[in-house]
Amino acid sequence: MADTLDFGFHPNPDPMPADERAERLKDPGFGTLFTDHMAMVRYTEGKGWHDAEISARRALSLDPAAAVLHYAQEIFEGMKAYKQADGAIALFRPEENARRFQRSAERMAMPELPEQIFLDSITRLTEVERDWIPPQEGGALYLRPFMFASEAFLGVRPAKEYLYLVIACSVGSYFKADAPAVTIWASQNYSRAAPGGTGAAKCGGNYAASLPAQAEAIEAGCDQVVFLDAAEKRWVEELGGMNLFFVFDNGEVVTPPLTGTILPGITRASLIQLLRDEGLTVREEPYAFEDWRKDSESGRLLETMACGTAAVVTAVGTVKSADGDFTIGTGGPGQITRKMRDRLVNIQRGEAPDPHGWVKHIG
Ligand SMILES: *Cc1c(COP(=O)(O)O)cnc(C)c1O
Repeated sequence: MADTLDFGFHPNPDPMPADERAERLKDPGFGTLFTDHMAMVRYTEGKGWHDAEISARRALSLDPAAAVLHYAQEIFEGMKAYKQADGAIALFRPEENARRFQRSAERMAMPELPEQIFLDSITRLTEVERDWIPPQEGGALYLRPFMFASEAFLGVRPAKEYLYLVIACSVGSYFKADAPAVTIWASQNYSRAAPGGTGAAKCGGNYAASLPAQAEAIEAGCDQVVFLDAAEKRWVEELGGMNLFFVFDNGEVVTPPLTGTILPGITRASLIQLLRDEGLTVREEPYAFEDWRKDSESGRLLETMACGTAAVVTAVGTVKSADGDFTIGTGGPGQITRKMRDRLVNIQRGEAPDPHGWVKHIG
């Protein structure tokens, strides 16, 4: 079966006028300003991947028995296309997203999308939508590849038909640009992932299950929720959509290990490398919630960073829980957090050398 496909291009006959787009790009927000086109590829058991196209972004027509609506076979990715200092467009480690998409598919008993089809879908759509990248600082095209079971049937087995799509939206900064640090809520009532579960897969279901915990966080006046491990409620795992790093006063940095309950972030992997490039010692090992509190109070812990594609690197300033609150460092972004954020952003924007070959230029 095909490992590559030719994408047909059917231009949107009614795109947003350029002056209206320019106006909307001044304040794009996050996740609401969609571009004119989408990529779509079909999968049918026996036939494989077929009918690849870039065409007008439009509503889908789905049978009400489509398997995704009942048994939730759905996975996604999130990545950004950046405008470089010289005007070229670049993606950041897109082959890592392609591989993670394959691992997510495997976990949800879905067919693997060949890496080259994934990369071509992203590249083609970005080329078509290059004028949708906001010109201002922090602006990017956020790409959302996703796949779901479209076969119409009621019964518990892997579906035989799937749709893979990529949509795109223009985005500014995820958190308000002047937000100094986030406050997070440690959930005692909810778990995100259990051993043997789907915590390492980027599937919509993980997010659905995290929403009541996120609502609890908002209720407690926090921005985000931090999840502890399901078995002991003792070890810090990650936020709803971001991985964590703990920076100590002796030059050591700890991040929770990938034991199957944590999403293997590409920003996480990149930060581990960049921290080591700085001469810091990074250990992937469990960190207890009680130590987080103790080490913050004693001053041994200097900083906590949260990271992911959407918000890049953000400081965690305060942690709240049913047992009381604690503040990390000064409560604002520390030195390493700021340095790492700048490091990563500068590589992504082509403003600093890219020693690890992470940036892929397109067009
Ligand atoms: C996507 C995601 C992350 C961050 O991954 P990146 O590849 O760095 O964007 C972290 N945690 C969860 C639960 C996620 O879904």
